[in-house]
Amino acid sequence: MSSVSPPGTPVPGQLTFVAPRRAKPARHLADLTMAERRAAVAELGEKPFRADQLSRHYFERLTGDPGLMTDLPAAAREKLAKAFFPTLLTPVREMTTDAGTTRKTLWRLFDGALVESVLMRYTDRTTMCVSSQAGCGMNCPFCATGQAGLTRNMTTAEIVEQVVAGARALAAGDVPGGPGRVSNVVFMGMGEPLANYKAVIGAVRRMVEPAPDGLGISARGVTVSTVGLVPAIGKLAAEGLPVTLALSLHAPDDELRDTLVPINTRWKVAEVLDAAWDYAARTKRRVSIEYALIKDINDQEWRADLLGKLIKNKLVHVNLIPLNPTPGSKWTASRPEDERAFVRRLEFHGVPVTVRDTRGREIDGACGQLAAAE
Ligand code: SAH
Repeated sequence: MSSVSPPGTPVPGQLTFVAPRRAKPARHLADLTMAERRAAVAELGEKPFRADQLSRHYFERLTGDPGLMTDLPAAAREKLAKAFFPTLLTPVREMTTDAGTTRKTLWRLFDGALVESVLMRYTDRTTMCVSSQAGCGMNCPFCATGQAGLTRNMTTAEIVEQVVAGARALAAGDVPGGPGRVSNVVFMGMGEPLANYKAVIGAVRRMVEPAPDGLGISARGVTVSTVGLVPAIGKLAAEGLPVTLALSLHAPDDELRDTLVPINTRWKVAEVLDAAWDYAARTKRRVSIEYALIKDINDQEWRADLLGKLIKNKLVHVNLIPLNPTPGSKWTASRPEDERAFVRRLEFHGVPVTVRDTRGREIDGACGQLAAAE
């Protein structure tokens, strides 16, 4: 097996938009639309309706095991499974916390690249946090993934497989709480989803299409989180997919945001907020503003006030995330009193705000900590 090595630490402010060209993983059923699956099945000399059967096995019964596909002619099973269900993700390590209801999996891709996903089961929902790239090119200095650089884009099926793996574990009763389903997906693992636009949109479509085409997860339960690639936000708004947009703002002023979220040197706070309001207007979906509170860096009351003024009276919700310090970072989470003052200031402006619970901290599975080190 060949192996890809990570590109190494980018210099501060360096942005990488174009992923290195690498060998692609084998085609998988989840990469294809139903029409493409039918055509691919026909190419193998099988009846097109076999595509529906294969799709039901994968998206409904959550299996790619030919031995279980008893509705397919025995002679065709191996051939079809080989053609449509190559192994894309191999688990390297699994870590659990919260009495088994939070589980992080480190996956090895076909070329040795490493990514992580996290399953979080709550009383009323189960969320899969998925990666969309091996590494990330956006270089946010407080984020562990950003410090490692971009190895490569993931394919649609590599993204979908993370959700299917979680769905399998839930269906099998492997997660405490009894058999269950994946209700939510957040693109908050490794990578900048809008920098891998085509594969990510394909994955979102597979997630929300009803069976047998896809997993049948409600689009409202899917959140695409971005540093703010303005043209791609516009494109996403035009897809007709009412997914939730999360914007990683982290600072209301360009001076600070230029350093915390280097993409800001390309698209400024005012531009990215305009793109967010446009997204909200076109999709009728409340935009989520992500703001990691970093002690004495972005947590001053005047910044809360400025943020409040910029976003009040909009279809918006603020998610404050206590910073998860990454190894070697000089930054830490805000003092509790500063966090409270920040919340109060936003509430003063009538802005809905919550402080995110930081599940998975103990297993380095919390926001921005996914570094996929082995
Ligand atoms: N690239 C996308 C999605 C991945 S990160 C984005 O930036 O939105 C998911 C969220 O975790 C983002 O809001 C990101 O800014 C945040 N995050 C990254 N590192 C963090 C850290 N160390 N502590 C808290 N939140 C962090």
